[in-house]
Amino acid sequence: MTTCDKAKILIVDDVPEKLLSLRVVLEGLEQILICVNSGEAALRRLLTDDFAVILLDVNMPGLDGFETATLIRQRQRSEHTPIIFLTAFPDDTFAARGYSLGAVDYILTPVIPEVLKAKVSVFVDLFRMAQQIKRQAEERVALAQEHAARVAAERASRAKSEFLANVSHELRTPMNAIIGMTDLALEEDVSMLVREHLEMVQSNARVLLELLNEILDFSKLESGKFTLDSVPFNLREVIHELSETLSYRAADKGLEFVTRITDDSPDSLRGDPLRLRQVLMNLLANAIKFTEAGRVSLDVAIESQSLREVRLRFTVTDTGIGISPQDQERIFAPFTQVDASSTRRHGGTGLGLAIASDLTRAMGGTLSLKSELGRGSVFSFVLPLAIEPATPQPAPSRTPVESPAPRDGKPSNGRNGQQMRVLLAEDMPANQKLILQVLGKRGHVVEVAANGREAVELATHAHFDLILMDLQMPTMDGFQATADIRKSPLNAQVPIVALTAHAMPGDRDRCLEAGMDDYLAKPLDVRKLVTVVESWAHGR
Ligand code: ADP
Repeated sequence: MTTCDKAKILIVDDVPEKLLSLRVVLEGLEQILICVNSGEAALRRLLTDDFAVILLDVNMPGLDGFETATLIRQRQRSEHTPIIFLTAFPDDTFAARGYSLGAVDYILTPVIPEVLKAKVSVFVDLFRMAQQIKRQAEERVALAQEHAARVAAERASRAKSEFLANVSHELRTPMNAIIGMTDLALEEDVSMLVREHLEMVQSNARVLLELLNEILDFSKLESGKFTLDSVPFNLREVIHELSETLSYRAADKGLEFVTRITDDSPDSLRGDPLRLRQVLMNLLANAIKFTEAGRVSLDVAIESQSLREVRLRFTVTDTGIGISPQDQERIFAPFTQVDASSTRRHGGTGLGLAIASDLTRAMGGTLSLKSELGRGSVFSFVLPLAIEPATPQPAPSRTPVESPAPRDGKPSNGRNGQQMRVLLAEDMPANQKLILQVLGKRGHVVEVAANGREAVELATHAHFDLILMDLQMPTMDGFQATADIRKSPLNAQVPIVALTAHAMPGDRDRCLEAGMDDYLAKPLDVRKLVTVVESWAHGR
Protein backbone atom coordinates (compact mmCIF):
# COMPACT_ATOMS: atom_id res chain seq x y z
CA MET A 1 0.00 0.00 0.00
CA THR A 2 1.49 3.36 -0.94
CA THR A 3 1.30 6.33 1.43
CA CYS A 4 -1.40 7.97 -0.63
CA ASP A 5 -3.59 4.84 -0.42
CA LYS A 6 -3.40 4.92 3.40
CA ALA A 7 -6.19 6.46 5.44
CA LYS A 8 -5.49 8.90 8.28
CA ILE A 9 -6.64 8.25 11.84
CA LEU A 10 -6.68 11.08 14.38
CA ILE A 11 -6.11 10.16 18.03
CA VAL A 12 -6.81 12.86 20.64
CA ASP A 13 -5.82 12.33 24.27
CA ASP A 14 -4.10 14.55 26.85
CA VAL A 15 -2.32 11.61 28.57
CA PRO A 16 0.88 10.68 26.69
CA GLU A 17 0.88 7.07 27.93
CA LYS A 18 -2.66 6.50 26.68
CA LEU A 19 -1.77 8.06 23.35
CA LEU A 20 1.20 5.73 23.12
CA SER A 21 -0.79 2.62 23.95
CA LEU A 22 -3.49 3.50 21.40
CA ARG A 23 -0.81 4.07 18.77
CA VAL A 24 0.75 0.65 19.52
CA VAL A 25 -2.60 -1.11 19.14
CA LEU A 26 -3.51 0.64 15.90
CA GLU A 27 -0.13 0.43 14.22
CA GLY A 28 -1.11 -3.09 13.11
CA LEU A 29 -3.68 -1.54 10.74
CA GLU A 30 -0.90 0.04 8.68
CA GLN A 31 -2.64 3.38 8.30
CA ILE A 32 -1.35 6.88 9.05
CA LEU A 33 -1.76 7.63 12.75
CA ILE A 34 -1.80 11.25 13.89
CA CYS A 35 -1.68 11.77 17.66
CA VAL A 36 -2.48 15.10 19.33
CA ASN A 37 -2.85 15.95 23.02
CA SER A 38 -5.70 18.47 23.06
CA GLY A 39 -9.03 19.41 21.48
CA GLU A 40 -7.47 22.64 20.14
CA ALA A 41 -4.63 20.73 18.45
CA ALA A 42 -7.18 18.32 16.94
CA LEU A 43 -9.20 21.20 15.48
CA ARG A 44 -6.07 22.72 13.97
CA ARG A 45 -5.18 19.42 12.33
CA LEU A 46 -8.71 19.06 10.97
CA LEU A 47 -8.24 22.28 9.02
CA THR A 48 -5.76 20.61 6.68
CA ASP A 49 -6.47 16.86 6.67
CA ASP A 50 -9.33 14.49 6.04
CA PHE A 51 -9.57 11.60 8.51
CA ALA A 52 -11.19 8.21 8.24
CA VAL A 53 -12.06 8.32 11.95
CA ILE A 54 -11.31 10.38 15.08
CA LEU A 55 -10.67 8.75 18.45
CA LEU A 56 -11.54 11.45 20.97
CA ASP A 57 -10.87 11.37 24.70
CA VAL A 58 -13.76 12.85 26.68
CA ASN A 59 -11.90 14.18 29.69
CA MET A 60 -9.32 16.73 28.68
CA PRO A 61 -8.22 20.08 30.11
CA GLY A 62 -9.15 23.03 27.91
CA LEU A 63 -11.70 21.90 25.34
CA ASP A 64 -13.12 18.59 26.53
CA GLY A 65 -14.22 15.82 24.15
CA PHE A 66 -17.83 17.01 23.89
CA GLU A 67 -16.88 20.63 23.14
CA THR A 68 -14.30 19.48 20.61
CA ALA A 69 -16.89 17.21 18.92
CA THR A 70 -19.36 20.11 18.70
CA LEU A 71 -16.77 22.27 16.92
CA ILE A 72 -15.74 19.39 14.65
CA ARG A 73 -19.34 18.97 13.51
CA GLN A 74 -19.72 22.68 12.82
CA ARG A 75 -17.03 22.63 10.18
CA GLN A 76 -17.97 21.58 6.68
CA ARG A 77 -14.80 19.60 6.10
CA SER A 78 -15.32 17.39 9.14
CA GLU A 79 -19.09 17.46 9.56
CA HIS A 80 -19.37 13.78 8.58
CA THR A 81 -16.08 12.41 9.94
CA PRO A 82 -16.87 9.51 12.32
CA ILE A 83 -15.98 10.21 15.99
CA ILE A 84 -15.43 7.47 18.57
CA PHE A 85 -15.36 8.70 22.17
CA LEU A 86 -12.90 7.17 24.60
CA THR A 87 -13.92 7.19 28.22
CA ALA A 88 -13.19 5.40 31.48
CA PHE A 89 -16.59 6.25 33.06
CA PRO A 90 -19.51 5.20 30.93
CA ASP A 91 -23.06 5.92 31.93
CA ASP A 92 -26.22 6.29 29.92
CA THR A 93 -26.46 10.08 30.07
CA PHE A 94 -22.89 10.28 28.93
CA ALA A 95 -23.58 7.99 25.98
CA ALA A 96 -26.74 9.90 25.04
CA ARG A 97 -24.89 13.22 25.08
CA GLY A 98 -22.08 11.77 22.96
CA TYR A 99 -24.45 10.46 20.33
CA SER A 100 -26.43 13.70 20.27
CA LEU A 101 -23.20 15.54 19.44
CA GLY A 102 -22.62 13.31 16.47
CA ALA A 103 -20.42 10.53 17.81
CA VAL A 104 -20.80 7.20 16.08
CA ASP A 105 -19.57 5.04 18.91
CA TYR A 106 -17.74 5.00 22.22
CA ILE A 107 -15.10 2.71 23.65
CA LEU A 108 -14.21 2.09 27.25
CA THR A 109 -10.63 2.58 28.37
CA PRO A 110 -8.42 0.77 28.95
CA VAL A 111 -9.23 -0.53 25.47
CA ILE A 112 -9.46 -4.14 24.41
CA PRO A 113 -7.02 -4.11 21.48
CA GLU A 114 -9.03 -6.47 19.23
CA VAL A 115 -12.24 -4.51 19.73
CA LEU A 116 -10.55 -1.17 19.02
CA LYS A 117 -8.81 -2.51 15.92
CA ALA A 118 -12.02 -4.08 14.57
CA LYS A 119 -14.06 -0.90 15.08
CA VAL A 120 -11.46 1.40 13.60
CA SER A 121 -10.87 -0.81 10.60
CA VAL A 122 -14.60 -0.72 9.74
CA PHE A 123 -14.35 3.07 9.47
CA VAL A 124 -11.14 2.86 7.49
CA ASP A 125 -12.87 0.57 4.98
CA LEU A 126 -15.89 2.86 4.78
CA PHE A 127 -13.62 5.85 4.23
CA ARG A 128 -11.80 4.02 1.42
CA MET A 129 -15.04 3.07 -0.22
CA ALA A 130 -16.31 6.62 -0.01
CA GLN A 131 -13.07 7.90 -1.52
CA GLN A 132 -13.34 5.39 -4.34
CA ILE A 133 -16.96 6.32 -5.08
CA LYS A 134 -15.99 9.99 -5.04
CA ARG A 135 -13.13 9.33 -7.45
CA GLN A 136 -15.37 7.34 -9.79
CA ALA A 137 -18.01 10.06 -9.69
CA GLU A 138 -15.39 12.68 -10.50
CA GLU A 139 -14.10 10.57 -13.38
CA ARG A 140 -17.61 10.16 -14.74
CA VAL A 141 -18.32 13.87 -14.47
CA ALA A 142 -15.03 14.61 -16.25
CA LEU A 143 -15.87 12.10 -18.99
CA ALA A 144 -19.36 13.53 -19.40
CA GLN A 145 -17.97 17.06 -19.56
CA GLU A 146 -15.37 15.98 -22.10
CA HIS A 147 -18.04 14.28 -24.20
CA ALA A 148 -20.31 17.33 -24.02
CA ALA A 149 -17.42 19.59 -25.02
CA ARG A 150 -16.54 17.29 -27.93
CA VAL A 151 -20.14 17.16 -29.14
CA ALA A 152 -20.38 20.95 -28.88
CA ALA A 153 -17.11 21.40 -30.76
CA GLU A 154 -18.17 18.97 -33.46
CA ARG A 155 -21.52 20.72 -33.78
CA ALA A 156 -19.79 24.09 -34.03
CA SER A 157 -17.36 22.79 -36.60
CA ARG A 158 -20.19 21.25 -38.64
CA ALA A 159 -22.14 24.49 -38.43
CA LYS A 160 -19.07 26.37 -39.60
CA SER A 161 -18.54 24.00 -42.51
CA GLU A 162 -22.21 24.18 -43.47
CA PHE A 163 -22.07 27.96 -43.32
CA LEU A 164 -18.96 27.96 -45.50
CA ALA A 165 -20.59 25.56 -47.93
CA ASN A 166 -23.73 27.69 -48.17
CA VAL A 167 -21.88 30.95 -48.53
CA SER A 168 -19.51 29.68 -51.20
CA HIS A 169 -22.40 28.09 -53.04
CA GLU A 170 -24.28 31.41 -53.02
CA LEU A 171 -21.18 33.32 -54.09
CA ARG A 172 -20.78 31.14 -57.14
CA THR A 173 -23.92 32.49 -58.80
CA PRO A 174 -22.82 36.13 -59.00
CA MET A 175 -19.33 34.93 -59.97
CA ASN A 176 -20.93 33.03 -62.79
CA ALA A 177 -22.57 36.26 -63.97
CA ILE A 178 -19.33 38.24 -63.69
CA ILE A 179 -17.40 35.69 -65.72
CA GLY A 180 -20.16 35.29 -68.31
CA MET A 181 -20.66 39.02 -68.76
CA THR A 182 -16.92 39.60 -69.05
CA ASP A 183 -16.77 36.86 -71.69
CA LEU A 184 -19.52 38.69 -73.56
CA ALA A 185 -17.88 42.09 -73.20
CA LEU A 186 -14.62 40.63 -74.52
CA GLU A 187 -16.42 39.56 -77.65
CA GLU A 188 -17.25 43.21 -78.41
CA ASP A 189 -15.04 45.53 -80.38
CA VAL A 190 -13.38 47.34 -77.49
CA SER A 191 -10.21 49.39 -77.17
CA MET A 192 -6.94 47.69 -76.20
CA LEU A 193 -7.04 49.30 -72.78
CA VAL A 194 -10.59 48.20 -72.02
CA ARG A 195 -9.71 44.71 -73.29
CA GLU A 196 -6.75 44.55 -70.95
CA HIS A 197 -8.94 45.60 -68.03
CA LEU A 198 -11.62 43.10 -68.92
CA GLU A 199 -9.05 40.32 -69.24
CA MET A 200 -7.78 41.24 -65.80
CA VAL A 201 -11.34 41.05 -64.42
CA GLN A 202 -11.82 37.72 -66.15
CA SER A 203 -8.65 36.08 -64.90
CA ASN A 204 -9.20 37.32 -61.35
CA ALA A 205 -12.80 36.20 -61.40
CA ARG A 206 -11.67 32.73 -62.49
CA VAL A 207 -9.15 32.58 -59.65
CA LEU A 208 -11.87 33.64 -57.22
CA LEU A 209 -14.21 31.02 -58.59
CA GLU A 210 -11.57 28.34 -58.24
CA LEU A 211 -11.06 29.43 -54.66
CA LEU A 212 -14.80 29.30 -53.97
CA ASN A 213 -14.96 25.83 -55.45
CA GLU A 214 -12.10 24.70 -53.23
CA ILE A 215 -13.71 26.13 -50.11
CA LEU A 216 -17.02 24.59 -51.09
CA ASP A 217 -15.44 21.18 -51.63
CA PHE A 218 -13.41 21.37 -48.46
CA SER A 219 -16.39 22.39 -46.32
CA LYS A 220 -18.52 19.66 -47.86
CA LEU A 221 -15.85 17.08 -47.08
CA GLU A 222 -15.55 18.48 -43.54
CA SER A 223 -19.27 18.51 -42.81
CA GLY A 224 -19.65 14.97 -44.17
CA LYS A 225 -22.14 16.20 -46.79
CA PHE A 226 -20.19 14.66 -49.54
CA THR A 227 -21.08 11.73 -51.74
CA LEU A 228 -19.27 10.20 -54.66
CA ASP A 229 -20.80 9.44 -58.02
CA SER A 230 -20.64 5.95 -59.46
CA VAL A 231 -21.04 6.37 -63.20
CA PRO A 232 -19.47 4.79 -66.27
CA PHE A 233 -16.59 6.78 -67.72
CA ASN A 234 -13.77 6.47 -70.17
CA LEU A 235 -10.40 6.71 -68.50
CA ARG A 236 -8.49 7.76 -71.59
CA GLU A 237 -10.98 10.55 -72.22
CA VAL A 238 -10.46 11.89 -68.70
CA ILE A 239 -6.69 11.86 -69.15
CA HIS A 240 -6.94 13.34 -72.64
CA GLU A 241 -9.09 16.23 -71.39
CA LEU A 242 -6.64 16.92 -68.58
CA SER A 243 -3.77 16.87 -70.98
CA GLU A 244 -5.55 19.30 -73.33
CA THR A 245 -6.20 21.72 -70.50
CA LEU A 246 -2.79 21.56 -68.89
CA SER A 247 -0.33 21.12 -71.74
CA TYR A 248 -0.72 24.81 -72.63
CA ARG A 249 0.16 25.87 -69.11
CA ALA A 250 3.23 23.62 -69.17
CA ALA A 251 4.22 24.84 -72.63
CA ASP A 252 3.92 28.46 -71.44
CA LYS A 253 6.63 27.70 -68.88
CA GLY A 254 8.73 25.78 -71.39
CA LEU A 255 8.10 22.47 -69.63
CA GLU A 256 7.73 19.08 -71.21
CA PHE A 257 4.32 17.60 -70.40
CA VAL A 258 3.68 13.86 -70.78
CA THR A 259 0.73 11.60 -70.00
CA ARG A 260 1.09 7.83 -70.30
CA ILE A 261 -1.44 5.05 -69.77
CA THR A 262 -0.30 1.45 -70.05
CA ASP A 263 -1.87 -0.16 -73.11
CA ASP A 264 -3.52 -2.98 -71.17
CA SER A 265 -5.43 -0.73 -68.76
CA PRO A 266 -9.18 -1.01 -69.38
CA ASP A 267 -10.98 1.97 -70.87
CA SER A 268 -14.51 1.63 -69.60
CA LEU A 269 -14.62 2.05 -65.87
CA ARG A 270 -17.13 2.99 -63.24
CA GLY A 271 -16.44 5.59 -60.57
CA ASP A 272 -16.49 9.34 -60.11
CA PRO A 273 -14.67 10.82 -63.11
CA LEU A 274 -15.22 14.41 -61.98
CA ARG A 275 -13.53 13.79 -58.64
CA LEU A 276 -10.73 11.74 -60.19
CA ARG A 277 -10.17 14.57 -62.64
CA GLN A 278 -10.19 17.08 -59.78
CA VAL A 279 -7.48 15.20 -57.84
CA LEU A 280 -5.28 14.77 -60.92
CA MET A 281 -5.89 18.36 -61.98
CA ASN A 282 -4.75 19.58 -58.58
CA LEU A 283 -1.60 17.46 -58.53
CA LEU A 284 -0.67 18.31 -62.12
CA ALA A 285 -1.41 22.03 -61.69
CA ASN A 286 0.80 22.06 -58.57
CA ALA A 287 3.53 20.16 -60.44
CA ILE A 288 3.49 22.77 -63.22
CA LYS A 289 3.23 25.63 -60.72
CA PHE A 290 6.27 24.50 -58.71
CA THR A 291 8.50 23.47 -61.64
CA GLU A 292 10.63 25.98 -63.48
CA ALA A 293 12.45 23.64 -65.87
CA GLY A 294 12.29 20.04 -66.99
CA ARG A 295 9.18 17.93 -67.18
CA VAL A 296 5.86 17.11 -65.58
CA SER A 297 4.33 13.70 -66.22
CA LEU A 298 1.27 11.66 -65.39
CA ASP A 299 1.51 7.87 -65.52
CA VAL A 300 -1.35 5.44 -65.16
CA ALA A 301 -0.45 1.79 -64.65
CA ILE A 302 -2.21 -1.36 -63.52
CA GLU A 303 -1.35 -2.39 -59.99
CA SER A 304 -3.61 -5.48 -60.03
CA GLN A 305 -6.68 -6.62 -61.89
CA SER A 306 -9.53 -9.09 -61.45
CA LEU A 307 -12.54 -9.78 -63.62
CA ARG A 308 -14.58 -6.96 -62.17
CA GLU A 309 -12.08 -4.55 -60.72
CA VAL A 310 -8.82 -2.92 -61.62
CA ARG A 311 -6.48 -1.18 -59.21
CA LEU A 312 -4.79 1.64 -61.05
CA ARG A 313 -1.75 3.56 -59.89
CA PHE A 314 -1.75 7.23 -60.82
CA THR A 315 1.65 8.93 -60.55
CA VAL A 316 2.35 12.63 -61.02
CA THR A 317 6.07 13.38 -61.30
CA ASP A 318 7.82 16.73 -61.62
CA THR A 319 11.37 18.04 -61.73
CA GLY A 320 10.49 21.12 -59.67
CA ILE A 321 11.55 22.73 -56.43
CA GLY A 322 10.79 19.65 -54.31
CA ILE A 323 9.54 19.55 -50.72
CA SER A 324 11.67 19.07 -47.58
CA PRO A 325 10.93 16.08 -45.29
CA GLN A 326 9.45 18.38 -42.59
CA ASP A 327 7.19 20.11 -45.08
CA GLN A 328 6.07 16.80 -46.57
CA GLU A 329 4.30 16.10 -43.30
CA ARG A 330 2.58 19.48 -43.18
CA ILE A 331 1.34 20.18 -46.66
CA PHE A 332 -1.61 17.78 -46.58
CA ALA A 333 -3.20 19.79 -43.76
CA PRO A 334 -5.72 22.43 -44.88
CA PHE A 335 -4.54 25.99 -45.52
CA THR A 336 -0.88 24.93 -45.41
CA GLN A 337 1.74 26.14 -47.83
CA VAL A 338 5.46 25.58 -47.63
CA ASP A 339 6.43 29.20 -47.60
CA ALA A 340 4.44 32.34 -47.81
CA SER A 341 6.87 34.14 -50.10
CA SER A 342 6.70 31.47 -52.79
CA THR A 343 2.94 31.40 -52.24
CA ARG A 344 2.66 35.03 -53.14
CA ARG A 345 4.57 34.25 -56.27
CA HIS A 346 2.56 31.12 -57.07
CA GLY A 347 -0.85 31.91 -55.56
CA GLY A 348 -3.17 29.24 -54.13
CA THR A 349 -5.05 28.62 -50.92
CA GLY A 350 -3.26 25.66 -49.41
CA LEU A 351 -6.50 23.70 -49.67
CA GLY A 352 -5.75 21.75 -52.85
CA LEU A 353 -3.77 18.90 -51.31
CA ALA A 354 -6.08 18.61 -48.30
CA ILE A 355 -8.99 18.15 -50.71
CA ALA A 356 -7.02 15.85 -53.02
CA SER A 357 -6.00 13.57 -50.17
CA ASP A 358 -9.54 13.51 -48.68
CA LEU A 359 -11.03 12.77 -52.09
CA THR A 360 -8.49 10.02 -52.77
CA ARG A 361 -9.31 8.47 -49.42
CA ALA A 362 -13.04 8.71 -50.15
CA MET A 363 -12.45 6.88 -53.45
CA GLY A 364 -10.56 4.08 -51.65
CA GLY A 365 -6.93 5.15 -52.11
CA THR A 366 -4.16 6.91 -50.22
CA LEU A 367 -2.26 9.86 -51.58
CA SER A 368 1.46 9.50 -50.94
CA LEU A 369 4.45 11.67 -51.66
CA LYS A 370 8.15 11.20 -52.31
CA SER A 371 10.16 14.33 -52.79
CA GLU A 372 13.65 15.71 -52.63
CA LEU A 373 14.37 19.37 -52.19
CA GLY A 374 15.66 20.87 -55.43
CA ARG A 375 15.12 17.68 -57.45
CA GLY A 376 11.36 17.25 -57.72
CA SER A 377 8.32 15.47 -56.33
CA VAL A 378 6.31 12.34 -57.01
CA PHE A 379 2.69 12.22 -55.83
CA SER A 380 0.94 8.89 -56.31
CA PHE A 381 -2.14 6.95 -55.31
CA VAL A 382 -3.81 3.64 -56.16
CA LEU A 383 -7.55 3.55 -56.81
CA PRO A 384 -9.82 0.53 -57.04
CA LEU A 385 -12.17 1.06 -59.99
CA ALA A 386 -14.95 -1.22 -61.22
CA ILE A 387 -14.58 -2.41 -64.80
CA GLU A 388 -17.66 -1.72 -66.91
CA PRO A 389 -18.88 -4.65 -69.02
CA ALA A 390 -18.12 -4.21 -72.72
CA THR A 391 -21.81 -3.87 -73.65
CA PRO A 392 -22.64 -0.40 -74.91
CA GLN A 393 -23.99 2.05 -72.36
CA PRO A 394 -27.68 2.97 -72.48
CA ALA A 395 -26.97 6.07 -74.52
CA PRO A 396 -29.18 9.12 -74.52
CA SER A 397 -32.01 8.70 -77.03
CA ARG A 398 -30.58 11.36 -79.27
CA THR A 399 -26.97 12.09 -80.02
CA PRO A 400 -25.56 15.55 -80.36
CA VAL A 401 -23.71 16.49 -83.51
CA GLU A 402 -20.25 17.81 -82.74
CA SER A 403 -19.91 21.45 -83.58
CA PRO A 404 -16.93 23.67 -83.05
CA ALA A 405 -17.25 26.38 -80.44
CA PRO A 406 -17.71 29.87 -81.83
CA ARG A 407 -14.35 31.52 -82.07
CA ASP A 408 -14.77 34.88 -83.68
CA GLY A 409 -17.57 36.01 -81.36
CA LYS A 410 -19.34 37.67 -84.28
CA PRO A 411 -23.13 37.45 -84.29
CA SER A 412 -24.18 34.54 -86.43
CA ASN A 413 -27.39 32.80 -87.04
CA GLY A 414 -26.46 29.63 -85.23
CA ARG A 415 -25.00 26.53 -86.79
CA ASN A 416 -25.63 26.38 -90.49
CA GLY A 417 -27.61 29.62 -90.22
CA GLN A 418 -30.45 27.86 -88.39
CA GLN A 419 -32.43 29.95 -85.95
CA MET A 420 -33.59 28.05 -82.90
CA ARG A 421 -36.37 28.51 -80.44
CA VAL A 422 -35.02 27.80 -77.00
CA LEU A 423 -36.98 27.58 -73.78
CA LEU A 424 -34.94 28.58 -70.77
CA ALA A 425 -36.20 27.49 -67.35
CA GLU A 426 -34.04 29.42 -64.86
CA ASP A 427 -34.93 31.44 -61.79
CA MET A 428 -31.73 33.48 -61.38
CA PRO A 429 -31.96 36.80 -63.26
CA ALA A 430 -28.18 36.96 -63.75
CA ASN A 431 -28.14 33.56 -65.46
CA GLN A 432 -31.24 34.42 -67.51
CA LYS A 433 -29.58 37.57 -68.78
CA LEU A 434 -26.32 35.81 -69.60
CA ILE A 435 -27.99 33.02 -71.57
CA LEU A 436 -30.36 35.43 -73.33
CA GLN A 437 -27.44 37.54 -74.46
CA VAL A 438 -25.21 34.66 -75.51
CA LEU A 439 -27.88 32.79 -77.47
CA GLY A 440 -29.48 36.04 -78.69
CA LYS A 441 -26.19 37.05 -80.24
CA ARG A 442 -26.11 33.73 -82.07
CA GLY A 443 -29.49 34.62 -83.54
CA HIS A 444 -31.61 32.26 -81.46
CA VAL A 445 -34.92 33.12 -79.85
CA VAL A 446 -35.03 32.43 -76.14
CA GLU A 447 -38.16 32.38 -74.00
CA VAL A 448 -37.68 32.50 -70.27
CA ALA A 449 -39.63 30.62 -67.62
CA ALA A 450 -38.82 31.63 -64.05
CA ASN A 451 -39.65 28.21 -62.60
CA GLY A 452 -40.54 24.66 -63.54
CA ARG A 453 -44.28 25.24 -63.61
CA GLU A 454 -43.97 28.14 -66.06
CA ALA A 455 -41.70 26.00 -68.21
CA VAL A 456 -44.30 23.21 -68.36
CA GLU A 457 -46.99 25.78 -69.31
CA LEU A 458 -44.91 27.28 -72.10
CA ALA A 459 -43.79 23.89 -73.42
CA THR A 460 -47.35 22.59 -73.67
CA HIS A 461 -48.48 25.55 -75.74
CA ALA A 462 -45.56 26.15 -78.07
CA HIS A 463 -42.92 24.18 -79.88
CA PHE A 464 -39.26 24.59 -78.89
CA ASP A 465 -36.17 23.21 -80.54
CA LEU A 466 -34.45 22.80 -77.19
CA ILE A 467 -35.12 23.33 -73.50
CA LEU A 468 -32.48 24.48 -71.01
CA MET A 469 -33.58 23.31 -67.60
CA ASP A 470 -32.15 24.59 -64.33
CA LEU A 471 -32.48 21.89 -61.66
CA GLN A 472 -33.01 23.99 -58.55
CA MET A 473 -35.97 26.33 -58.98
CA PRO A 474 -38.76 27.51 -56.70
CA THR A 475 -42.36 26.23 -57.12
CA MET A 476 -41.32 23.27 -59.30
CA ASP A 477 -37.80 21.94 -59.77
CA GLY A 478 -36.21 20.87 -63.04
CA PHE A 479 -36.73 17.13 -62.48
CA GLN A 480 -40.48 17.44 -61.98
CA ALA A 481 -40.80 19.94 -64.84
CA THR A 482 -38.96 17.55 -67.20
CA ALA A 483 -41.20 14.64 -66.19
CA ASP A 484 -44.31 16.80 -66.86
CA ILE A 485 -42.98 18.13 -70.16
CA ARG A 486 -42.15 14.63 -71.38
CA LYS A 487 -45.80 13.56 -70.83
CA SER A 488 -46.92 15.65 -73.77
CA PRO A 489 -46.46 13.89 -77.17
CA LEU A 490 -45.38 17.25 -78.58
CA ASN A 491 -42.34 17.19 -76.32
CA ALA A 492 -41.48 13.51 -76.22
CA GLN A 493 -38.42 14.16 -78.38
CA VAL A 494 -37.42 17.74 -77.59
CA PRO A 495 -33.84 17.81 -76.28
CA ILE A 496 -33.71 18.91 -72.67
CA VAL A 497 -30.34 20.04 -71.33
CA ALA A 498 -29.97 20.34 -67.56
CA LEU A 499 -28.13 23.27 -65.99
CA THR A 500 -26.49 21.94 -62.87
CA ALA A 501 -24.04 23.08 -60.24
CA HIS A 502 -21.04 20.76 -60.54
CA ALA A 503 -20.94 20.47 -56.77
CA MET A 504 -23.98 18.24 -56.68
CA PRO A 505 -22.85 14.64 -56.94
CA GLY A 506 -25.10 12.21 -58.76
CA ASP A 507 -26.76 14.97 -60.78
CA ARG A 508 -25.66 13.64 -64.13
CA ASP A 509 -27.26 10.24 -63.57
CA ARG A 510 -30.37 11.76 -62.11
CA CYS A 511 -30.72 14.10 -65.10
CA LEU A 512 -30.50 11.26 -67.61
CA GLU A 513 -32.84 9.09 -65.57
CA ALA A 514 -35.34 11.96 -65.36
CA GLY A 515 -35.51 12.08 -69.14
CA MET A 516 -33.01 14.83 -69.87
CA ASP A 517 -30.50 14.42 -72.66
CA ASP A 518 -27.43 16.28 -71.56
CA TYR A 519 -26.24 18.64 -68.89
CA LEU A 520 -24.17 21.77 -68.58
CA ALA A 521 -22.25 22.50 -65.42
CA LYS A 522 -22.61 25.83 -63.72
CA PRO A 523 -20.96 28.32 -63.67
CA LEU A 524 -21.68 28.20 -67.38
CA ASP A 525 -18.89 28.24 -69.86
CA VAL A 526 -20.20 30.47 -72.63
CA ARG A 527 -18.51 28.56 -75.45
CA LYS A 528 -19.71 25.24 -74.14
CA LEU A 529 -23.25 26.58 -73.82
CA VAL A 530 -23.29 27.56 -77.48
CA THR A 531 -21.69 24.29 -78.60
CA VAL A 532 -24.09 22.11 -76.66
CA VAL A 533 -27.22 24.09 -77.58
CA GLU A 534 -26.44 24.22 -81.28
CA SER A 535 -25.24 20.64 -81.58
CA TRP A 536 -28.38 19.28 -79.91
CA ALA A 537 -30.77 21.45 -81.80
CA HIS A 538 -29.14 20.61 -85.10
CA GLY A 539 -28.90 16.93 -84.29
CA ARG A 540 -32.62 16.52 -84.00
P1 ADP B 1 -1.88 25.54 -53.02
O1 ADP B 1 -1.23 24.94 -54.23
O2 ADP B 1 -3.24 26.09 -53.29
O3 ADP B 1 -1.00 26.46 -52.26
P2 ADP B 1 -1.91 22.83 -52.06
O4 ADP B 1 -2.59 22.25 -50.87
O5 ADP B 1 -2.25 22.28 -53.39
O6 ADP B 1 -2.20 24.38 -52.00
O7 ADP B 1 -0.36 22.74 -51.82
C1 ADP B 1 0.16 23.12 -50.57
C2 ADP B 1 1.62 23.47 -50.66
O8 ADP B 1 2.39 22.29 -50.95
C3 ADP B 1 1.94 24.42 -51.80
O9 ADP B 1 1.70 25.76 -51.44
C4 ADP B 1 3.42 24.11 -52.01
O10 ADP B 1 4.18 24.80 -51.07
C5 ADP B 1 3.52 22.62 -51.72
N1 ADP B 1 3.46 21.82 -52.97
C6 ADP B 1 2.41 21.17 -53.49
N2 ADP B 1 2.72 20.50 -54.61
C7 ADP B 1 4.03 20.72 -54.83
C8 ADP B 1 4.96 20.30 -55.83
N3 ADP B 1 4.61 19.50 -56.84
N4 ADP B 1 6.24 20.73 -55.71
C9 ADP B 1 6.62 21.53 -54.69
N5 ADP B 1 5.80 21.97 -53.71
C10 ADP B 1 4.51 21.57 -53.77
